Amino acid sequence: MTPELQELFDAALAAQANAHAPYSHYPVGAAVRSSSGKVYAGCNVENAAYPQGWCAEASAIAAMVSAGERRITAVVTLSSGPIMGTCCGGCRQKIREFADLDVPIHSCGPEGLRRSFTLQELLPFSFGPENLP
Ligand code: ZN
Repeated sequence: MTPELQELFDAALAAQANAHAPYSHYPVGAAVRSSSGKVYAGCNVENAAYPQGWCAEASAIAAMVSAGERRITAVVTLSSGPIMGTCCGGCRQKIREFADLDVPIHSCGPEGLRRSFTLQELLPFSFGPENLP
């Protein structure tokens, strides 16, 4: 891993440890790097009323936006288990709001990087802010 990816991985791993996932038992951590170079992390936050929960990527994006930033330059999603976890469809769209199509999205497990994608690969023919007048 590059030092930049390692920093995102470490932030996602630390956030994963704080995940609130008592129902799925599937803790996830995510981290985004903003255009300023800062890293924002988040975890999934489940709720007894299941639809009220949200994903780790949403938490990380909310932290970035709350800090006044609007552009994502890289994403790490970190989940455990033998099958590689990628961003869900809803999170791909959430990332799309703040990222160019060539932004890398790195799917990681606890052992490290599993596979890297671009946003374009994960969300082809997407709808974005430029579609609106
Ligand atoms: Zn999601």
